[in-house]
Amino acid sequence: MRRERIRNFSIIAHIDHGKSTLADQLLMRTKTVDDRDMQAQFLDGMDLERERGITIKLNQARMKYTASDGLTYALNLIDTPGHVDFSYEVSRSLAACEGCLLVVDASQGVEAQTLANVYIALENELEIIPVLNKIDLPGADPDRVRREVEEVVGLDCSDAIMASAKQGIGIDEILEEVVRRVPPPPDNRHKPLRALIFDSYYDPYKGVIVYFRVVDGQMVPGDVVRLMNTGKEYQVDEVGVLAPKQVPVDALYAGEVGYLAASIKAVADARVGDTITLKKGGTAEALDGYQEVQPMVFCGLFPTDADQFSDLREALGRLQLNDAALQYEPEVSSAMGFGFRCGFLGLLHMEIVQERLEREYDLDLITTAPTVVYKCLRAGGEEMNVDNPCNLPDKHDNLQEPYCRMEIITPKDFVGPIMELAQQRRGDFIDMTYLTETRTTLVYDLPLAEVVTDFFDEMKSRSRGYASMEYHITGYRKNDLVRLDIKINGETADPLASIVHRDNSYRVGRALVKRLKELIPRQQFKIPIQAAIGSRVIASESISALRKDVLAKCYGGDVSRKKKLLKKQAKGKKRMKSLGRVDVPQEAFMAVLSLG
Ligand code: GDP
Ligand code: MG
Repeated sequence: MRRERIRNFSIIAHIDHGKSTLADQLLMRTKTVDDRDMQAQFLDGMDLERERGITIKLNQARMKYTASDGLTYALNLIDTPGHVDFSYEVSRSLAACEGCLLVVDASQGVEAQTLANVYIALENELEIIPVLNKIDLPGADPDRVRREVEEVVGLDCSDAIMASAKQGIGIDEILEEVVRRVPPPPDNRHKPLRALIFDSYYDPYKGVIVYFRVVDGQMVPGDVVRLMNTGKEYQVDEVGVLAPKQVPVDALYAGEVGYLAASIKAVADARVGDTITLKKGGTAEALDGYQEVQPMVFCGLFPTDADQFSDLREALGRLQLNDAALQYEPEVSSAMGFGFRCGFLGLLHMEIVQERLEREYDLDLITTAPTVVYKCLRAGGEEMNVDNPCNLPDKHDNLQEPYCRMEIITPKDFVGPIMELAQQRRGDFIDMTYLTETRTTLVYDLPLAEVVTDFFDEMKSRSRGYASMEYHITGYRKNDLVRLDIKINGETADPLASIVHRDNSYRVGRALVKRLKELIPRQQFKIPIQAAIGSRVIASESISALRKDVLAKCYGGDVSRKKKLLKKQAKGKKRMKSLGRVDVPQEAFMAVLSLG
């Protein structure tokens, strides 16, 4: 395809504003996917994504479109993930484009993620085409939302496109505007090869399939390429375009997007944001913006059945082939036995991995409460990262925790309850501005640990679902933090330890032992439960002993009934781990998260 007829663009939107529905419409209208093959939301391939209505992994599709000028264009749609955990991936996808559609729900308006995405688009100097979606809804108020986008985003919306992705309204206009307003890629064919990786996935037959944008030069099969940040070298087996199925081509030139296969073993070897160049005659100057993503949230994963340990290791290994951000290493706990300490980008990423392990690999897991990574100075003066509260040394100094800057957009009626929430979660108020007459932006600096628990859910419930939020990590801060230990039946239960602010420690300690008392089933003996800081017990409760043996009821009864009861018990026991001779159910490991 001639360079002048290429358009590379993305769709950005707040979650649920209709990005995937619109992408489907574009694919259908251009006959890239025919109606018969059209599975709703083609671009959201994974089951999990479809169930949760989120886009986790990005994808791309090349559409052929004959515009009203009679010429045929190649429109490359690069999809972006729709969750804050994946904002780095969003930024790399947008870096591969010249323009984007900004989709805003005309019955809602600008939300936190709308803004965050617009900032990334502006950083990448993209042409932004505003689309007001869902105009079919009775509650749609495109004029109000148009003004809002103009005021808040500072974007001229006089020619915003009125659309309904659901009813197929405005789709032709969108395609025409992409052709008319998104600039073609610049002419960089004669420079040495530089290509930007914006996604990859593992294919068991071809090895890793790398999605990239050729920024400079060209790539052909047989080229020996070097990935500039990992330093790895490969011979390219195949290059092609996504139409949207893989179609091999002879070459890809500057301005085009496509894929390559080069028998790469794991996605960690071809990281998002890395630059591909030629081994011979390449460049020494990598493209800007590469970051090695760091896991922010850690938890322990333990099989309920010790025999599943090696299955768990294998499953994590397979998932990691396809997920460069997933980290894991073996963890042995006297209480829990053998398992893994795993690192994730955020809570959503963590949930996705857990769910896949359980669904696709049929594992029964106990998950310990997620924590962030703290930094401290050990007694000897050596700095240490603590991704597991029970590893925090008793003697330490200068304990620091990660902070984030959060932007919340809310109808003004809910400002009070949301400010209260942010304050409870140790937030520092930074700013409040009126977005419009009825809506407000709140800015807070918050400890990440307070955000990765149930902040999002709380914010939603306090605002009846109307508030939205976005955050990014800003750095570490020293705080007066302590390790809160839990003792069950006199033994310290490592996996229940947490790190809390000293001012909250009594409240959390008391609430936690109370909650554990409710969650841990009674047993044959009395069970003391205590919360302690160092050697000082700050709260205690006890679970009284079961009065009757369950089996006693069956005395003299028939054997099959007894068996049934035992079986039922065994089933109920499934998600339990024995800590200090006490069976502790999965919910108890997460109890600390729900204390508020
Ligand atoms: P995404 O999260 O931005 O990808 O949003 P989706 O495309 O998954 O859409 C979210 C919800 O809005 C789905 O239930 C869609 O059916 C619905 N939706 C999308 N576009 C429209 C529209 O134009 N009109 C109406 N009424 N609903 C829409
Ligand atoms: Mg979607």
